[in-house]
Amino acid sequence: MERQRALGVSAITAFCLLVFGCGSDPAPPKDQSKTNKGDGHSEHATDHEAESKKAHDHEAPHGGTLVVFGEEFAHMEMVVDETSGKLTIYFLDGLASNGVRLKTESLTLLLSTGEKRETITLKGVENDLTGETVNESSQFEGQSDFLKANHKFEVHISVLNIKGVEFKEVKFDFPEGNEAHDEDEHHKESEATGKHQGTEER
Ligand SMILES: [Zn+2]
Repeated sequence: MERQRALGVSAITAFCLLVFGCGSDPAPPKDQSKTNKGDGHSEHATDHEAESKKAHDHEAPHGGTLVVFGEEFAHMEMVVDETSGKLTIYFLDGLASNGVRLKTESLTLLLSTGEKRETITLKGVENDLTGETVNESSQFEGQSDFLKANHKFEVHISVLNIKGVEFKEVKFDFPEGNEAHDEDEHHKESEATGKHQGTEER
């Protein structure tokens, strides 16, 4: 039986090669022209680009430093009180408007200037209003005297799990953050011009 089947297969293969020249049929170009016909695909790509640009217009809800994770997957806002050395971190969604809860009771950040290094641990903040607990909160708080003395530093977070996605070796400068703020600068410029015009009138 085995031998018969093997013979049969090779006979079919030989027949196929002789008559049709299996595999040499130039079918693929036909398929390509089909997908190129509709311009819908490239149009969609442009729409998507515009959408992501739009999403970058958001502002930090608490006036702090915005840090983006992935391509507008989520955000983190850092607010420092230079007088008390208190650091508050808020985790936000892709539009930086609604809170995103992290399933962890603490966060560890490494802060560094050229010479000094400091590790700060933040604890999850309970919120009766939203039902957030110390183990599942969108807000984390901590305190360090380093933050009273240093107002420009690099932040390093070794690992962070947001909505089931792990982000490793997150680094950014404070207070710059890692989001482009071109729009904001333009805004400030026009405000300054407005003030200048006001004083000229006097
Ligand atoms: Zn953003």
